[in-house]
Amino acid sequence: MKIAIVGAGLTGLSCALELRDYNPTIFECHDVGGLLASYGRKGYRIEKFYHHFFRWDHDLLNMIKRLGLSSKVVWKIAKTGFAIDGKIYPLNTPLEILRYPHLSLMDKIRLARFTLKSRKRDYTIEDDRGVVEGIREELGENLLQKFFMPLLKAKFGENYERVSYAWLLARVAIRSNRKLSGEELGYLRRGFWQLVDRMAEGLNIIRKPVENIGYFNKKYHIHGMEFDAVVWTAPLPLLDPKIANNLNLPSISYQSSICALVGCEKPLSDLYWINVDNAIFGAVIEHTNFMPFEDYGEHLIYLASYTTPDSELFRMSEKNLANLYLKDLERLGMKRRDVKWIKIFKAKYSAPIYEKGYLKKIVPYRTNLKGFYLAGMFSKPNYPERSMNGSIKAGIEVAKALKADFDLS
Ligand SMILES: Cc1cc2nc3c(=O)[nH]c(=O)nc-3n(C[C@H](O)[C@H](O)[C@H](O)COP(=O)(O)OP(=O)(O)OC[C@H]3O[C@@H](n4cnc5c(N)ncnc54)[C@H](O)[C@@H]3O)c2cc1C
Repeated sequence: MKIAIVGAGLTGLSCALELRDYNPTIFECHDVGGLLASYGRKGYRIEKFYHHFFRWDHDLLNMIKRLGLSSKVVWKIAKTGFAIDGKIYPLNTPLEILRYPHLSLMDKIRLARFTLKSRKRDYTIEDDRGVVEGIREELGENLLQKFFMPLLKAKFGENYERVSYAWLLARVAIRSNRKLSGEELGYLRRGFWQLVDRMAEGLNIIRKPVENIGYFNKKYHIHGMEFDAVVWTAPLPLLDPKIANNLNLPSISYQSSICALVGCEKPLSDLYWINVDNAIFGAVIEHTNFMPFEDYGEHLIYLASYTTPDSELFRMSEKNLANLYLKDLERLGMKRRDVKWIKIFKAKYSAPIYEKGYLKKIVPYRTNLKGFYLAGMFSKPNYPERSMNGSIKAGIEVAKALKADFDLS
């Protein structure tokens, strides 16, 4: 039985581990680890894109345990805040929330009730309703403009109006389980590269892009090799049209990410996550307010934006982007002399856009081509949020479907 897996992100790697007895061949065109790949500085490695996990990420936590990394797991309350007009407001304790000046007491009560109720609601019935319309009707204009709009823009960039209300309800429900002091987040001390390295150990990874997939004599043909089955885990728009046209695939729109990673002499705040209104980036993530400064020897800050692959921002040179990001970081109070270095990372396909009607588009693992499987950010475990956990789960589940179809143990 010969199996090919396209993509060595978390979906591809976890699928390969589940099929290890059959020595699958993995094709990877860029970084092993995909969106979870790391960047090496002198003395440490750090994710190109910020990452953390949650208590309910059982598939990820099981994988960490299985690979002997549980002792590295760290849980911490992550302090968050909002930056409006250049001023940062911490929003963690009930007192801080009460003091926040941009929402009325009535808005705060309405928001608390909405959050508590969210866990009991059937969000699927709201899939054809737009998020802006849903918030406006249920929570009012002020909460929409002063609270949700900056969050939506931070999460979806210019695509926020396309998103469904179902997505918001599902997302609030999974994130509503907070402690009074804030939300507890997990991290793998000294970096997720340890997880990626352990997952990839001993796997047969060929560093080549898969652009053409032939199918004849009941076999799939990739780079001159023959396969009985193929698992595609890369973004759907990159799938060979010869195959894609036979699969009746829904058209899924992707968004792109830009993350600036900044090394600084000083921290900007004492918060981990700050949602920012009216800046080139939607969030500031101060990694060294979450993990110890001593692990890195410098303060590390991510500035994160979401956009579309064809936007002017995404096409801008790294130098111009770095200038824009630093200018807005200064507006928040960071002095240019305290910035040691800045590095820009871009991901063209960084997440599906959970637009209206998305629930009908979720792609099943099995296709109408025998032996051809699809799993990744577009699979069910990655709704309402694509995540490390969702991709590991999708990788394991698609491997199980393949084993069942071919009577493999
Ligand atoms: C900015 C950002 C922040 C995030 N933060 C978090 C977080 O805090 N917590 C969390 O749980 N998740 C987070 N995620 C999501 C998480 O990183 C992803 O859900 C997960 O890593 C996706 O894994 P994947 O294997 O499904 O996809 P990918 O990582 O995209 O892997 C697909 C792989 O396929 C390869 N490939 C593409 N085309 C081809 C081809 N033609 N031939 C061969 N190989 C190909 C790619 O190079 C890539 O390695 C974040 C993502 C981003 C972008």
